[in-house]
Amino acid sequence: RADLALYQAKDAGRDTLRFYDPKMQAAVSARAALELDMRTGLAQGQFELYYQPQIDHGRIIGAEALLRWRHPRDGFVSPAHFIPLAEETGLILPLGEWVLKTACQRLASWALQPALAPLSLAVNVSPRQFHQSGFVAQVLAALAGAGVDGRQLKLEMTEGLLLEDVEDTIDKMGQLKGYGVGFSLDDFGTGYSSLSYLKRLPLDQLKIDQSFVRDVLTDPNDAAIARTVVALGTSLGLRVIAEGVETEAQREFLERHNCHAWQGYLLSPPLPVAEFEALVHRTNAVDGLPPQA
Ligand code: C2E
Ligand code: MG
Ligand code: MG
Ligand code: MG
Repeated sequence: RADLALYQAKDAGRDTLRFYDPKMQAAVSARAALELDMRTGLAQGQFELYYQPQIDHGRIIGAEALLRWRHPRDGFVSPAHFIPLAEETGLILPLGEWVLKTACQRLASWALQPALAPLSLAVNVSPRQFHQSGFVAQVLAALAGAGVDGRQLKLEMTEGLLLEDVEDTIDKMGQLKGYGVGFSLDDFGTGYSSLSYLKRLPLDQLKIDQSFVRDVLTDPNDAAIARTVVALGTSLGLRVIAEGVETEAQREFLERHNCHAWQGYLLSPPLPVAEFEALVHRTNAVDGLPPQA
């Protein structure tokens, strides 16, 4: 490789060879810059939660909180880009705590408005965040600090998180469940979790990954997987929600196969809070009457 310079490291002792790869070096400094930017961004309030509605029988029953970062120079940065790095560097710990606190404060403000009070709010939790030692206390402090009932809060976790330390996972989920906190298994079907975990873990919901929803009408395998996840979840007493629903035909397919709820661009992308609240009022009000309890 032409860009690979081989040199003898002066301070690393005799006979130690190190490889120096300028491309790799550039990648390392880009990551360091991003990490620094994230720290600054968190301190300066550049992060924001957006809310995507979750729908059951035409009514908005809750939302998923999705993190947005408005970088002063680069503009909008996708969570798909910065969450993995935040997870690697450990910045997910303060960032995740901020998300939990902000979500609970949002629930507290909804609790004061009859049309919004029944909504649940789902928060994404990443593995490092969940497995840190004080996680349960952190969630309880966020709930208590905002004066919010744990039953309004759902935590979305991926299969990878469950696999990392099953005993720790079961213990923490059990503790939080005692306060009413719900658990949804995100991106279900894309990970490597064994079906036996589904019965051991106190889950409330499976979320069918959008990769199965996308071609559900044209790919018989995706259709089979979607139907099977609904049947599996339902048999285990879990609710099943589909993500990434973009067309009426996809929604109709899922409804016909008894999927309980859905979210996706068909109704709305994730929205800033004021727009989300306005959408709830419009969608849930029937004939101008306030929504039923
Ligand atoms: P996720 O939790 O699976 O979220 C679903 C993603 O699909 C979101 O992307 C959402 O905006 C997008 N989406 C929703 N409806 C549709 C649709 O109809 N079609 C398509 N094509 N996409 C749709 P987003 O907001 O970019 O988030 C990406 C991922 O970043 C999330 O995947 C989640 O894993 C992670 N993430 C976002 N916010 C947080 C957070 O606060 N904490 C943690 N730990 N992770 C987060
Ligand atoms: Mg999610
Ligand atoms: Mg998902
Ligand atoms: Mg997904």
